[in-house]
Amino acid sequence: MVVVMAPGATDEEIGRVVERVEGVGGEAFVSKGVVRTIIGLVGDIESFHHLNLRSLPGVADVHRISDPYKLVSRQHHPERSTVWVGPAEKQVPIGPETFTFIAGPCAVETPQQTLEAAEMAKAAGATLLRGGAFKPRTSPYAFQGLGVRGLEILADVREVTGLPVVTEVVDARDVAVVAEHADMLQIGTRNAANFGLLQAVGESGKPVLLKRGMTATIEEWLMAAEYIAQRGNLDVVMCERGIRTFEPATRNTLDISAVPVIQATSHLPVIVDPSHAAGRKDLVVPLSRAAIAVGADGIIVDVHPEPETALCDGPQALLGNDLRALATAVRQLPAAVGRLDASARTRTGRASST
Ligand code: PEP
Ligand code: MN
Repeated sequence: MVVVMAPGATDEEIGRVVERVEGVGGEAFVSKGVVRTIIGLVGDIESFHHLNLRSLPGVADVHRISDPYKLVSRQHHPERSTVWVGPAEKQVPIGPETFTFIAGPCAVETPQQTLEAAEMAKAAGATLLRGGAFKPRTSPYAFQGLGVRGLEILADVREVTGLPVVTEVVDARDVAVVAEHADMLQIGTRNAANFGLLQAVGESGKPVLLKRGMTATIEEWLMAAEYIAQRGNLDVVMCERGIRTFEPATRNTLDISAVPVIQATSHLPVIVDPSHAAGRKDLVVPLSRAAIAVGADGIIVDVHPEPETALCDGPQALLGNDLRALATAVRQLPAAVGRLDASARTRTGRASST
């Protein structure tokens, strides 16, 4: 941390900063320039925060130098992590060596619709099933999901297809029941700053898929991950799903650069959701190709057997030729950027989040 003194700050004001820092066991290195004095602080950053140095007389500014997140940072954990999802005998990796394809319906509507969507997903090469039982809808009049019944349907479909399940949790009170039925808990964009919920999934014992808040900076998104990690859960996968910008042609603007930025700053895996980014099915395949090319660790895509009757997000759901085109991209392109198919790697003999 660096304290920048105002031009003309007195020796007494500089001395007061040094005294405060040393008072909490830190060291202060004073460097006097012609116009300004700066003071470099070494020690426990959290204790410096409590000193409220910015409010001292003669202090112009205080800057952090290290990342504000620790547990999810590459500074503290240089190797990129792999998160394993699913029951012991059929765990699916999400991480730097593989490319993981997740697909399924936006919402669980009926057992038949969920099974058909899961079978479409599996036939297209998906190794994990997505599907919302608790839906975070912008309108209180829109379909809110089937709740616990939806979780039961997902668990039944996992039995039939063998695909582990990722599903959203929208309320801290539901974390236990969702964790009981699902293999991975999703935090949606609307809850990405719900700190109580982040802490609750941090204690769930299940891996977490953390969507980016729709107006969150990358640093805020990583701080959300830090909330989960701080509760002892480092099995977090980041998911870029588009951010809100001035551009109305797409539902959100896919920030493709977030993928290499996250990979440079954090050890956590990062995947892309082209469906919720675009909101239109014609863009899902091109954006998926872009995600693979940029080095994403996976994608999560909406599919539906009958998009025109879907209760949620029908216009972005793939089937037919679009899904076949996506399956081809997912089969062919990851190898070009040095990735294995997720099903080609098994956990045997490997550590989890290394
Ligand atoms: C979803 O994946 O079903 C969803 C609601 O996504 P997001 O939170 O990114 O809008
Ligand atoms: Mn949706």
